[in-house]
Amino acid sequence: MKVKLNGNDFFEVSSSFGATDNVHLTPHSGIDLVMNTGTKIFSPTDGIISKVVDYGNSNIGKGVMVKTNDGETIILGHLSDNSKVEVGQHVQKGDFLGLSGNTGNSTGSHLHFGLKDSDGSFISPDKYLNSDGINVNQLINDHGGVITKIIAKKAEHSTGDGMFSDIRGFMDLINRIGNEGFFQAVYGKSFFEVIKDFIAQLLMDIYTFIISNGEAFFIIPAILIMFATFIIGRNKYTKFIIPLWMAYFLSVVLRLTNCLPPQT
Ligand SMILES: [Zn+2]
Repeated sequence: MKVKLNGNDFFEVSSSFGATDNVHLTPHSGIDLVMNTGTKIFSPTDGIISKVVDYGNSNIGKGVMVKTNDGETIILGHLSDNSKVEVGQHVQKGDFLGLSGNTGNSTGSHLHFGLKDSDGSFISPDKYLNSDGINVNQLINDHGGVITKIIAKKAEHSTGDGMFSDIRGFMDLINRIGNEGFFQAVYGKSFFEVIKDFIAQLLMDIYTFIISNGEAFFIIPAILIMFATFIIGRNKYTKFIIPLWMAYFLSVVLRLTNCLPPQT
């Protein structure tokens, strides 16, 4: 499953709230998001920096905590850099909080995103991760097929944010473009990284699309050519029948063995 953070970026969940596994022996107090070290983290809401911590190699390592206006506390852990904010500082939705990393008790680059209610109990931070955001790739992987993809594309375009937060988000963005340049501000990475990621994503989408729709790409053409061969005799397309069946077979094997693009 993927969730949204930093506006419109999607991140794979590697450990969900309340989960137990080899690393989390007690129920997980937050949600872990797979994230390259150095990814900029922006505040998902307005609030005040309540703690800036460094637990060294234990716990969440370098962390930042944001007390929200309704008294809850957001916890960001395993950061590589938490030095750009200080306790008492007011932050608005979209303000820079730090860089993700792999500090503390962590086995790989990820962000620990936690939430405490006003009484100090851990609660699921779902609401800040737009968990209702639907990811197209994920849906294709789960269900496969063209129709699913179209439905998912439609669903992805609906956002629940109000007009005022949109306007403020837009003004923040304009300020950031002024300070950091367009690509850094919009995507948090340079022009070449944006293009590289875009092409990689595009190739992955095309690959997923073909593998998920083996019938349409391989079987239907193969059957049409077989009929053509049967009715009008051998022709220049006859030689594609066996490769098409082979390609279909391969697509089924890839699908069944889950050789779909990694969800990073
Ligand atoms: Zn965690």
